[in-house]
Amino acid sequence: MGTGIGQVIIALGSNISPEKHLRDGLAQLRRWIHITATSQVYRTPPWGYTGQDDFLNAAVAGQTELPPVELLNRLMDTEALMGRVHTIPNGPRTLDLDILFFGNLVMDSEQLTVPHPRLHERGFVLLPLCDIAAEFIHPVLGRTVSDLLDAVDLAGIEPVGLVLPA
Ligand code: AMP
Repeated sequence: MGTGIGQVIIALGSNISPEKHLRDGLAQLRRWIHITATSQVYRTPPWGYTGQDDFLNAAVAGQTELPPVELLNRLMDTEALMGRVHTIPNGPRTLDLDILFFGNLVMDSEQLTVPHPRLHERGFVLLPLCDIAAEFIHPVLGRTVSDLLDAVDLAGIEPVGLVLPA
């Protein structure tokens, strides 16, 4: 594994005290990522399992010296620190952290798939992503984030008028 600096983009989501958990989650990310851009925060209707509160979603970009799997382990530790318990699939959560892109890296292991395998299907991921990386070309699909956004349903997703501090 190289020791170079990687450009990483992370998605954050929460529907339990969501503003607090997005802020606290970002504070943790700063331990390993030099944050260079933050998206607006969006309110999103629950996806998959609908009997739960709305989510807040955001995305951040930055530079890290950690290799991808090391970063993933830190993200999972952070989710645990925020009290996340895995109950219902797609159910309520204090904090969900996903690696969307790691530069132009393409990898698919048991632990980690990059780019995130479902990012191009989800408006609540693509909309914040577009705030910070609209012209970035998805290294597998060969299309910009902005083009991918044009193809998804954005019904019910609204900015809340808040930008996480960069
Ligand atoms: P989730 O319930 O969405 O937080 O899924 C977490 C699981 O997805 C972890 O066990 C990870 O190993 C796996 N995973 C695979 N690819 C990614 C990715 N790009 N970002 C975050 N988690 C990932």
